[in-house]
Amino acid sequence: MTKRRQTYEAPDITVTFDPDLCIHSGVCVRGLRAVFDVEKRPWVNVEGASAEAIAEQIKRCPSGALSYELPEDNPTARTP
Ligand code: SF4
Repeated sequence: MTKRRQTYEAPDITVTFDPDLCIHSGVCVRGLRAVFDVEKRPWVNVEGASAEAIAEQIKRCPSGALSYELPEDNPTARTP
């Protein structure tokens, strides 16, 4: 069964998590626990670090389960 993709939004970054792709490597949790903590709900806290730090950590996700979008990637999503 396909699990639902999860989206976590902050003003300066939007994080998307696809549970179907996650291989549970733990790279995100070990690398940036202030943001990625499976003991917490929601398990992604986009306020826990800067957008840059979150983006750098997401680039290390080996499965592609985590992805992100910055406001400058999608100017129409910006609040006027
Ligand atoms: S780094 Fe990616 S693959 Fe590893 S646990 Fe986190 S989301 Fe899953």
